[in-house]
Amino acid sequence: MSDIGADLDALSLAARERLAAASSAEAVDALRHHLLGRSGELTALLKQLGSVPAEERPALGQRANEVRGELESAIGVRLSQLQAGDLEARLADEAIDMSAPGRPLRAGHLHPVLTTMRDLREIFHAYGFEVFEGPEVETEEYNFELLNIPPDHPARDLWDTLYVAEPGSIEAGESRPATDGTILRAHTSPTQIRAMRALDPPIRVLTPGRCFRYEAVDASHGFEFFQIEGLVVDRDTSLADLKGMLEEVARALYGRDVRTRFRPGYYPFTEPSVAFDIGCLVCGGEGCPACKRSGWMTILGAGMVHPTVLRNGGFDPDEYQGYAFGMGPDRMTMLRHGIGDIRLFFSADLRFLGQFSEGR
Ligand SMILES: [Zn+2]
Repeated sequence: MSDIGADLDALSLAARERLAAASSAEAVDALRHHLLGRSGELTALLKQLGSVPAEERPALGQRANEVRGELESAIGVRLSQLQAGDLEARLADEAIDMSAPGRPLRAGHLHPVLTTMRDLREIFHAYGFEVFEGPEVETEEYNFELLNIPPDHPARDLWDTLYVAEPGSIEAGESRPATDGTILRAHTSPTQIRAMRALDPPIRVLTPGRCFRYEAVDASHGFEFFQIEGLVVDRDTSLADLKGMLEEVARALYGRDVRTRFRPGYYPFTEPSVAFDIGCLVCGGEGCPACKRSGWMTILGAGMVHPTVLRNGGFDPDEYQGYAFGMGPDRMTMLRHGIGDIRLFFSADLRFLGQFSEGR
């Protein structure tokens, strides 16, 4: 055997070592090209066969073919090893640890004011009241005129609201721009007119919703808040019906032993008007700072629907009467949970809101 035989053995040995060290399919491919390609190391050795004695050529040629075969199969083996390794690594990457603790799901819950409103709806539902909703963007006509509050009526100051105006239409120093009478509703009462015009008597509706006021914001006043009003229109509806209804509701809300009283009140859209009080929940009636030492807390305003308002709703006041009452769910919620500042409701502070998730 000539040196070519030894060279073939050396090439085979070196090739296996380099193959074993190749760490990627790309490296193996490059090595294959380097060993077996047209200008590769093995091809270069074969080219030298022409210079060896003729009797040695067949054996050397056969040995060269064996080496080529061995290298090709070694390359195949190495490639599948690498692929298997890749798969293993990928599986290890993608493995799911079934014993790892799960990520907690953060479920939302009702806002405490909405919870109060739902409770009120449930109580009134038992007395046959249905929910009737109106728009938050209203007209001055519905918000004031139709409710017996004509322009320039001093009572309008109680319900000063936010006007919807064209951009640029507000002159400097002017608080009330010239508008087409579009406003954010100052109370849910306009919905009573809408309900009277839309429904056939007997009417028993609740009108929950958001209201807006042009108001300096402090611990007990917000520029947006909720109201729930109730309206009953029927023949022979009386103040006694209203009183009985409200006493039932007070018991449902605050327990059978709650004390109640009517006081004279004033609203332009009811006549007579009353304030409805319950015995102070904090001191039980002895007098404390929460009830301003009176022993009573006002929870709603009410009255018999004013004949003008009935007429504006499409009813003849000689035939139909009605009563209406309005509650402030924000204040009621503050009372219920001992919350001292109304601004917390809209502060979007999860430390505050998170306290009301229990059982809801
Ligand atoms: Zn008190």
